[in-house]
Amino acid sequence: MGKKHIFNAGPCLLPQVAIDNTIEALKDFKGTGVSLLSISHRTKGWDETMDECRALWKELLCIPEGYEVVFLGGGASLQFLMAAMNFLENKAGYLETGVWAKKALKEAKGLGNAFAVASSADKNYSYIPKGYEIPADLDYFHITTNNTIYGTEIRKDIDSPVPLIADMSSDILSRPVDVSKYELIYAGAQKNAGPAGVAVAIVKTDALGKVSRYLPTMLDYRTHIDKLSMFNTPPVVSIFVMNETLKWLKGIGGVSAINAINVRKAETLYAEIDRNSLFTGTAAKEDRSIMNICFVMAPGKEDLQDEFLKFAVERDMVGIKGHRSVGGFRASTYNACTQEDVEALVAVMQEFEKIRG
Ligand SMILES: *Cc1c(COP(=O)(O)O)cnc(C)c1O
Repeated sequence: MGKKHIFNAGPCLLPQVAIDNTIEALKDFKGTGVSLLSISHRTKGWDETMDECRALWKELLCIPEGYEVVFLGGGASLQFLMAAMNFLENKAGYLETGVWAKKALKEAKGLGNAFAVASSADKNYSYIPKGYEIPADLDYFHITTNNTIYGTEIRKDIDSPVPLIADMSSDILSRPVDVSKYELIYAGAQKNAGPAGVAVAIVKTDALGKVSRYLPTMLDYRTHIDKLSMFNTPPVVSIFVMNETLKWLKGIGGVSAINAINVRKAETLYAEIDRNSLFTGTAAKEDRSIMNICFVMAPGKEDLQDEFLKFAVERDMVGIKGHRSVGGFRASTYNACTQEDVEALVAVMQEFEKIRG
């Protein structure tokens, strides 16, 4: 069996050192003689892991004073609801750039007045809407910075007259972000920051406590801030792996360094998609994601789709089948995916063109 090149959309490829260190901790957590699976989250060494992980988030994303980082269960999907519960009082606007954005909007609508300020549904979310105006009387404007299914991304923090809330599930830690522009950033870890089972929320603390509704204890960010994400038993294994992933990221130079690597990977693959006569990209060029690269067979070549998928899988490409709502192919080039992985995929595309082009 050759080395697998993993392009899964999520859960994602994780750095090998994070996996190896986790295996050690599963056997013996920090020399305690107890497996990570069996430690109490009140164990002293565990506090240190939580503290380290919080500090790494703050350092890697240059999170300013006045923000807290919390680790939560329920994935990004629960954050759709928590964001609205904690911040929607009168009116909220959403940028509808895909099904995740729509799901976030649905939760807000269930609680109050929330609507799509702009949408790209007319072209199956293949672009990011532009030229819309954000109403100045919104409690917040919600964006999904990277649209995992369609391969579009808002790569520059937008200007907004109202506080921004962002679902950054699939591009957090892939590029620098000006956190001060947001009152809430959330992400399920499993796309770029760790394994499934934990979500991270970066919350502006003085923006909390302004809504009049009753907030259930578990759905109030203040509960988790006050208890340092240990109000209830945290997902210790997932947090441990996330911490190891962040340590790896810091070790290779942090978010700016990985961004340069990510841009190069994406440019390499997009260049091949644009050059290769058998393939064509699906996302508007100016909105192309550097994390999820979507492409389909070129017009007239559609009947080669299944054959290419089989051809690529036989050559150790993993996870390149596109989401069913877009079809074709999607290569997710998250942080732990390397330039070599991308070049291996490009080589397979070129080989296929030689025999079928
Ligand atoms: C995967 C994904 C989600 C859903 O995440 P869960 O953690 O599975 O709830 C939400 N938003 C985006 C952008 C995603 O890619």
